[in-house]
Amino acid sequence: MATVAATITTVETRANSRKRALENEAVQSPKWRIRLGERAKGIRNPIREIMDTIAGKENPSKSLVSLAQGDPTCYPHLRPSAEMVLAVSHAVNSGQNNGYQPSQGSARCRAAVAAFFDTPGRPTLQAKDVFMTLGCSEALSHCIAALAAPGSNLLLPRPGFPLYQVLCDYHGVEVRYYDLLPEKGWQCDIGGIAKLVDKNTCGLLINNPSNPCGTVFPREHLEEVLKAALQLRLPVIADEVYAGMSFSRPFVSCAAASAQVPILSVCALSKRWLAPGWRLGWISVHDADGAFADAGVPETLLKLCQVSLGPTAPLQAAMPEILTTVPDGCAWHRDVLAALEASAQCCVRRCKRIPGLEVAAEPEGSMYLMVRLQPGVLNIDDDVKFAGKLLEEESVAVLPGQCFCAPSFFRVVFAAPVEVLEEAWDRIESFCHRHARVKR
Ligand SMILES: *Cc1c(COP(=O)(O)O)cnc(C)c1O
Repeated sequence: MATVAATITTVETRANSRKRALENEAVQSPKWRIRLGERAKGIRNPIREIMDTIAGKENPSKSLVSLAQGDPTCYPHLRPSAEMVLAVSHAVNSGQNNGYQPSQGSARCRAAVAAFFDTPGRPTLQAKDVFMTLGCSEALSHCIAALAAPGSNLLLPRPGFPLYQVLCDYHGVEVRYYDLLPEKGWQCDIGGIAKLVDKNTCGLLINNPSNPCGTVFPREHLEEVLKAALQLRLPVIADEVYAGMSFSRPFVSCAAASAQVPILSVCALSKRWLAPGWRLGWISVHDADGAFADAGVPETLLKLCQVSLGPTAPLQAAMPEILTTVPDGCAWHRDVLAALEASAQCCVRRCKRIPGLEVAAEPEGSMYLMVRLQPGVLNIDDDVKFAGKLLEEESVAVLPGQCFCAPSFFRVVFAAPVEVLEEAWDRIESFCHRHARVKR
């Protein structure tokens, strides 16, 4: 026994002296103590990873035409309204908006959002139901974080906006994809949704109008999807950042398509109001039966808002005017939709003429269109290679479908004016003729 005890003591002493030596070495080390957080290090942006293999390879003899960036202000024909800009400038110049606001947003700003997004058939949306955020991205992050119980999984659309996956990884939520069906105008595979659900499923994310598909769900379809959510008792995160950006049929929100399902609807000034750089977004909590309240979701959203302390005070102060000066159907809004529709139609018309390309479903809203590479027609079948070669030879940038979990498609942003799009499609057309397997 004594020997064992002695041995243990010796081992301990050695271990301690080694530890001390390491500590001394650390104190004397010339290196700074910089290590990285696991969660931060783990952030993966799929678009960047795919695009880094393509980037910077445009043809130096042709000017770059980008149909890749999801920013509606890339070209000068789409701009926030003069009234919106004036409202912000007044808010800054008044000198009244330099201080901190409540973390979830100023009461006046939240009341304005609540009034704008109040939905018939639902309890009146109130200021207390609205949480202001740094763009729609932070709104999505808060919603996913709030529902991210240990072991939970979230149902995401495929094809879909890549940030959803990034946020799920970051908040430790397992991702399960439900399909949007191209042959059905990118409607949801409702039967598939039920098969993915288990006791750990924390919600269903619906993005309507869609990025990257450009579709706007008909009311009947949205009602069916929400009926499934009701039967499965799945709360919904509704990414409605393209609300009001529909030119084919009226946009119907998730809250309007179901009286009961608990819905966290997220939106921002970024798309319909053409001001992504203003970084103003919000969450509207539609909680008819009090299911979110019972689970503590509003308190949790408030805690999450207390991390960044919310968007800038001048922007919040300008919100009531921003929302009332450019309502749906005003001249500015009609002009924006008319420009987007003309651009969408130009893309569809030009694309349909090109052998090897196929419009998966005609765009109805947002500012995107998915194009399918028909197998075997071109000598490039892979969408990443297609996007790479198109940039290299024609200096036209599009995003490969793999960025959205949709291989053999590519996404076109039609927020460019028609003249720019005609030029882009001229180049895409000659590219496809050049790469046809069978020359015509
Ligand atoms: C652009 C976009 C967002 C992010 O909007 P921000 O307000 O710029 O953060 C969220 N969801 C979808 C589908 C988008 O296209």
